[in-house]
Amino acid sequence: MLDSNSQPLFEKSWDIVIIGGGNAGLCAAITAAERGCSVLVIETAPREFRGGNTRHTRNLRSVHDEPTDVMTDRYTFEEYWDDLMRVTKGVTNEPLAKLTLESSQALMEWLIERGVRFQKALSGTLNLNHTNAFFLGGGRAMLNSLCRFAESVGVNFVYEAEVTDILLENGFCESVDVTWEGQSYRVRCKQLITASGGFEADLDWLAEGWGDAAKNFLVRGTPYNKGKVLRVLLDCGAQPVGSLDQCHAVAIDARAPKYDGGIASRVDGVPFGVVLNKSAKRFYDEGEDFWPKRYAIWGRLVASQPDQIAYAIVDSEGVERFMPSVFAPIADDTIEGLASKLSIDPVAAKNTVDAFNAACPDGPIDQMSLDGKATKGLTPEKSNWSAPISKPPFFGYPLRPGITFTYMGVAVNDRAQVLMKDGKPAANLFAAGEIMAGNVLGQGYLGGIGMTIGGVFGRIAGAEAARVLNR
Ligand SMILES: Cc1cc2nc3c(=O)[nH]c(=O)nc-3n(C[C@H](O)[C@H](O)[C@H](O)COP(=O)(O)OP(=O)(O)OC[C@H]3O[C@@H](n4cnc5c(N)ncnc54)[C@H](O)[C@@H]3O)c2cc1C
Repeated sequence: MLDSNSQPLFEKSWDIVIIGGGNAGLCAAITAAERGCSVLVIETAPREFRGGNTRHTRNLRSVHDEPTDVMTDRYTFEEYWDDLMRVTKGVTNEPLAKLTLESSQALMEWLIERGVRFQKALSGTLNLNHTNAFFLGGGRAMLNSLCRFAESVGVNFVYEAEVTDILLENGFCESVDVTWEGQSYRVRCKQLITASGGFEADLDWLAEGWGDAAKNFLVRGTPYNKGKVLRVLLDCGAQPVGSLDQCHAVAIDARAPKYDGGIASRVDGVPFGVVLNKSAKRFYDEGEDFWPKRYAIWGRLVASQPDQIAYAIVDSEGVERFMPSVFAPIADDTIEGLASKLSIDPVAAKNTVDAFNAACPDGPIDQMSLDGKATKGLTPEKSNWSAPISKPPFFGYPLRPGITFTYMGVAVNDRAQVLMKDGKPAANLFAAGEIMAGNVLGQGYLGGIGMTIGGVFGRIAGAEAARVLNR
């Protein structure tokens, strides 16, 4: 494989090697190439599956002080900060979190200047129009725009090439080992940026934090984020950040594929019915808050149920209240019939639904507000939108935990340098994106911040790596 000057890619000594061609890697690559560095992006996926989890995304969360073409109202730093504190409960590296939020507006402008297009502000059920900008054409279009731009400024890419090792001594990296077309190569570089995502596609590693439950997880994104590079960094003495079992996981349709199902397999019907476990028992308040604020806890909730399976059940009125998922629901005219089709005990399911119905208040629900229509005398309570499940046909969706991405990664500083266990930064080693997202996201999740963290730290890593080379 040759570069634009017909030199073999793997024989050259690169200014900067970047592992991973998702959002973080591309932001780093473009930034460094624009400063005159020679840049090689090593990506393990084939070209058609490039872009890791980035190609599944839809939006990015950004500060803006006044309405823009793509976001309504304003979303101040303070509001963003409050939102982040609420979801992480303060488990975050405050200086790095502030840096992320403060840099989000400039990131949007930078992306637009490099060909990324956003769609006009959305209105609708997700209530995200004043906080998040949506990529026109989704994450794949965003990714393709960045790849095109990267190529135009001279970034080199190699696909189906997996980094298997990093030669790191005393915090200094001089080369990486790569497997490509069955052969091993040692690729030299002056600076190394790791942007290879989390380890969510390695179910054995997930099992270290989740136990056997992990085998029943579905991986919503790329099968290529196995955390090999993260493991190498940790083995070489990089300082870990975040805990093993912290991740973003949502409840998705159990019929989704093991990997790469993306957003289409999400089930949004939970607030408008009940959720039963395999013993046909309810186990959590389905109406605790608006779905966008709660969907990210349901992955964990289902993960803690026996066999990591649950069933969302709605009636013919409830089914009209949310966006259909890609899989048609399982339907029957009776609760018992539906339960049999879902392989749960029909009598127990009927008893649970009857008890729920009897505890519902009178009158219609209002799904546009937290309507306070709570059940009475039921454990667990359903605190909003409690309407009897009584109008056939009845519909059921089997649910499994769908893991989006892991938070445990490597600690970095505000220059995106990887910190070693002694607290000192590695000399020429940087990290951006999911691999370091745990610095900001100690727990919880705020929709759209994943892309912000990757973009902000990708740009910082690219600029800092170039600066060390006096570019
Ligand atoms: C279904 C889904 C929807 C999402 N929606 C959103 C959203 O709307 N907004 C948002 O902010 N976030 C969203 N996220 C999270 C978001 O995708 C991530 O935060 C973001 O894409 C991370 O970017 P990254 O560059 O760090 O990793 P990735 O985009 O995953 O890129 C990492 C790359 O590294 C490569 N790689 C891994 N190991 C190696 C190796 N050993 N050698 C070479 N290459 C390697 C992988 O193939 C991959 O291409 C979503 C995630 C999923 C799964």
